[in-house]
Amino acid sequence: MGKGFFHVPPAVNEPVKSYAPGTPEREEVLQTYHKMYKKQVEVPLYIGSKKVKTKNTQDIFPPHDHQHKVGFFHNADKKHIEKAIDEAVNAREKWAALPWEQRAAIFLKAAELIAGPYRQKMNAATMIGQSKNIFQAEIDSACEIIDFLRFNVEYMTQIFDEQPESTEKEWNRVEYRPLEGFVYAITPFNFTAIAGNLPASAALMGNTVVWKPSDSQVYSAQVIMEVFQEAGVPDGVINMVMGDPVMITDTVLASPDFSGIHFTGSTEVFKGIWSKIGKNINTYKTYPRIVGETGGKDFIVAHPSANSKQVSTALARGAFEFQGQKCSAASRAYIPKSMWAKVRKDLEKDLKSFKMGSPENMDNFITAVIHEGSFNKLKKYIDKAKKDKDAEVIIGGTCDKSKGWFVEPTVILTTNPKYTTMETELFGPVLTVYVYEDKKYEETLKLVDETSIYALTGSIFSTDRYAATKATEMLQNCAGNFYINDKCTGAVVGKQPFGGARASGTNDKAGSKLNLLRWVSPRLIKETFVPPTDYRYPFLGEN
Ligand code: NAD
Repeated sequence: MGKGFFHVPPAVNEPVKSYAPGTPEREEVLQTYHKMYKKQVEVPLYIGSKKVKTKNTQDIFPPHDHQHKVGFFHNADKKHIEKAIDEAVNAREKWAALPWEQRAAIFLKAAELIAGPYRQKMNAATMIGQSKNIFQAEIDSACEIIDFLRFNVEYMTQIFDEQPESTEKEWNRVEYRPLEGFVYAITPFNFTAIAGNLPASAALMGNTVVWKPSDSQVYSAQVIMEVFQEAGVPDGVINMVMGDPVMITDTVLASPDFSGIHFTGSTEVFKGIWSKIGKNINTYKTYPRIVGETGGKDFIVAHPSANSKQVSTALARGAFEFQGQKCSAASRAYIPKSMWAKVRKDLEKDLKSFKMGSPENMDNFITAVIHEGSFNKLKKYIDKAKKDKDAEVIIGGTCDKSKGWFVEPTVILTTNPKYTTMETELFGPVLTVYVYEDKKYEETLKLVDETSIYALTGSIFSTDRYAATKATEMLQNCAGNFYINDKCTGAVVGKQPFGGARASGTNDKAGSKLNLLRWVSPRLIKETFVPPTDYRYPFLGEN
């Protein structure tokens, strides 16, 4: 029980290190990378206090060097998942009863471990396992995860601080209880920060968790578990399991104690999970919380008044950083005819200057896409665009899988605003451009709104305030994160809470109070100091 109204350290964003030539951080991350690259790791399942090894293992290869094994992980069978659920359910009572400041201290310590002694291990693991260049790793596996951990502690206290009014006769209090049961976290490959945040945010609020990382992120997921353990997350509070995602999910969703899902990944998978939860609804003790952040088909619209160099730079960064494998990556652009020649020339120049290869070489802006499945899918769409009459590959277009899954940054120009790559999320370094007649600005905004099922991020570039305002109004339902004169990627915790609507998710805004509210179930306690002793109200009095 509390013995004071404790104030948490004010959350501050972790500064991004530069890794410029000659800096100590560059030296340190490269040394860590080389050391880790030569070794092989073995990643067990983390179930309760046990590190479980099974006979069913899977090898880990860096996407940029698919013949170089860096380790392997153990896959669970159904019994392991049932055991992980039991451990989470059993750990709940003590964890939920632990005073909030103790849970806060654990996750604040995790943030400082990542900011200090684990920083380069987290970054090197993300560079090796997910093929991020050092800058993309630093903003993800160092800064963003640190920010999530710090800011969530502050948001938790803001939630606890929200209390109803009381009077001298009655005291009204709200307790923010964790959900009754356990939370299931499923995480994607593309952000180490999301992988850490989805289980940690629910656990911070007092829940216990079964966490299933992506097969393509297990290498850095193990470092996250190391950090959580060193920070003092007790056994059973976060259980990490790998294996057949359908078997794991079906087993978890069959448990009466399942009380919420914290998902980030593709739209189709999330919709499938939602319908399974619906089918099982009579199984559960409580209505499960369903939180999912899913796909995007993010846009950049340039108004004729925009600065063309700002537009081409936003496209070069927004569409191609981390090979376009950000849910927020720009993948469709709408450029006015009067500006297109200049934007095209500058974009071509920028893309030609991109170097592509291993993240170990710090000159490389572009590295490999995550796996063979992604490589094949991207190649298929690029090859199709080369043949289709209403599309033309104007920049890039080559794919080479001899050493790693390398897809050259590619720009498709289409005359059909509803062309397949204007609508479908490809999740790779492919940008499709539609050139519109300058006078058809408003018709084009309507097209942007109607073209895709998603509503995650989008940008308007304009120096004309009326035009920017028009876009802000007309596009209000097609992006959960909307940018004016900026690229549509790079949301920062505490500054731009992130999430989208329509088929992009439940928009519960990771990195905000709104998200944490989903992991608690408030209990109102009304205490009356002097209760009445006569049932009669004054209106019953005699005239
Ligand atoms: P994915 O959907 O393939 O996988 C996500 C997770 O779901 C993984 O852990 C995977 O193993 C699991 N999974 C796969 N099939 C499953 C099934 N049938 N049942 C249960 N679980 C299953 O996604 P990904 O390739 O890892 O990540 C890319 C996707 O994630 C893109 O669509 C991207 O837009 C989205 N994403 C969205 C956000 C956001 O905030 N909106 C952030 C990051 C990524």
